[in-house]
Amino acid sequence: MRITMIGTGYVGLVSGVCFSDFGHDVICVDKDPKKIEMLKAGKVPIYEPGLEALMARNVEAGRLSFTTELAPAVDGAEAVFIAVGTPTRRGDGHADLTYVMAAAEEVANALTGYAVIVTKSTVPVGTNRRVKQVVAKANPQAEFDVASNPEFLREGAAIDDFMKPDRVVVGVQTERAAEVMADIYRPLFLREFPIVTTDLESAEMIKYAANAFLATKITFINEIAALCERVGADVKEVSKGIGLDGRIGNKFLHAGPGYGGSCFPKDTQALARIGQDNAVPQSIVETVIRVNDTVKHRMIEKLRDLCGGTFNGKTIAVLGVTFKPNTDDMRDAPSLTIVPALVGGGAKVRVVDPQGKREGEGLLPGVVWAEDPYKAAQNADLVVILTEWNEFRALDLKKLAKKMASPRMADLRNIYSVQDAKRAGFEAYECIGRPGMA
Ligand code: NAD
Repeated sequence: MRITMIGTGYVGLVSGVCFSDFGHDVICVDKDPKKIEMLKAGKVPIYEPGLEALMARNVEAGRLSFTTELAPAVDGAEAVFIAVGTPTRRGDGHADLTYVMAAAEEVANALTGYAVIVTKSTVPVGTNRRVKQVVAKANPQAEFDVASNPEFLREGAAIDDFMKPDRVVVGVQTERAAEVMADIYRPLFLREFPIVTTDLESAEMIKYAANAFLATKITFINEIAALCERVGADVKEVSKGIGLDGRIGNKFLHAGPGYGGSCFPKDTQALARIGQDNAVPQSIVETVIRVNDTVKHRMIEKLRDLCGGTFNGKTIAVLGVTFKPNTDDMRDAPSLTIVPALVGGGAKVRVVDPQGKREGEGLLPGVVWAEDPYKAAQNADLVVILTEWNEFRALDLKKLAKKMASPRMADLRNIYSVQDAKRAGFEAYECIGRPGMA
C-alpha cells in the first residue's frame, strides 16, 4: 500500500516507521524543514528507544522516505494519515484543530485519485465529519472517504505499543474505507490483535474516554495516597491490595506527583469542554483536572516542609524533569509546576535528566544543569526524585548523602524506602502516601 503520513512528531514518525516495517510504502511529510533534514540524514529528532534503528532498516529497504512537499507525497497515496498536533486552545480548554484543518485542506488540493483521509490525531467528536466537509469544499471533485484511527501508543514504549497494540480502533462510514484500513493493519490482524471497527463518532469518543479513564485512575490513587499519609497507611500496599482485584487491575495505580505529558492534561480538558458544549458536564473528569492540580501543589508544600518552611537560600537537586522516563517530552510535565516554585522561592536549583536538557533548557529558566545526580547533589540541602528514570532507581545513596550539605530526600516516585534512606545516612526522607522520616 502507498501511505502518506502528515506530521513527523511522536505519533506520526512512529506510525510511519512502523507502517513501513509492515511492508507498506510510506512517505512522511512535515512542514518543519529542520525535522525533515534530520530524518533524511538518518537522525530521529525525538528520543524514542529503538526508533532510529527501525527507521534506518526501512529507509534502506526503500519503503520509507521524508519530505516537506505535501502535494507530491499525497499524489497516488491510497491512505493519507493526519498526525499533527491538537494542543489545548489558549483560553478555553478546547482542542485546537487549526493544524488538522489546515492539513486537511492541503491534502484536498493534492488528491489525484481515491484515498482515505485518516485522522490519527486526537480530535473531538465531530471532527472527522468536519474534515470531510473541508476536503469536499476545497476540492469538490475529490474522490475520498474519511476515517478515524486514534492512536494509543505511549512515548518511551511507542514501537512495542504500535506493533503489539491492545487494540486498533478504526471509525469509518463506508465499506471501501473499512477495506483500505483493514489492508493497512492486516499484519496485526493476522497476529490476532483486536481491531475495533466503529462509526466515526464512537472512534473519536473511545480515545478521549480511554485517556480520561486512565487520568482518573492515577488521580484516584494520588488522592488515596494523601489520605494514607494522614492515617499512617502505605499506598504501595493499598495499590497492590486493590490492583490484584481483576476488576481493578494493577496498572496506573502508582502514586506520584500528578499526571502530566502531551496527552492526559489536554485530553481531559478537551473532554470536559465537549461535555459542557453538549450540556452533559463530565463532572468526574472536571474533578480529576482540579485534583491533579492540587496534587502538584501538595508536592511543593511537601518540599517546602523538608526545607524547614522556606526555599530561600537552599540548594536543591532535582532528578528528572521529563513527564516520564524514556522520553525527552516535557509537555505539561509536573517539573514545569514544581521547579519554578523552587526557583521562585529563592532556591538554587540543579537539574539532571538523561534526555530532558534539550527541551528543558528553554522551559526551566534559572536552573543549572548538572551532568549526573552526584554532581547535582554537591552541597545540596535537598534532593528531589521527580522522574523515575532507570539511572535514578539504582543510585548509590551513601555516596549521594555524603555529597550533600544536609542529606534530605523527597522521593516523589516511591522508589526507595525509609530503611534505604536511613542506612545511607539521610537525615530526612519523604515519599508519597507512605510514612517517611523527618
Ligand atoms: P507533535 O507536536 O510531536 O508532532 C506534530 C508534527 O506535525 C510536528 O512535527 C509539526 O511540524 C507537524 N505538522 C503540523 N502541521 C503540519 C502540516 N500542515 N503539514 C505537515 N506537518 C505538520 O505531536 P504528537 O505528540 O505526535 O501528537 C500528534 C497527535 O497525536 C495529537 O493529536 C496527540 O494528541 C495525539 N497522540 C499523541 C500521543 C503521544 O504520546 N505523543 C499518543 C497518542 C495520541
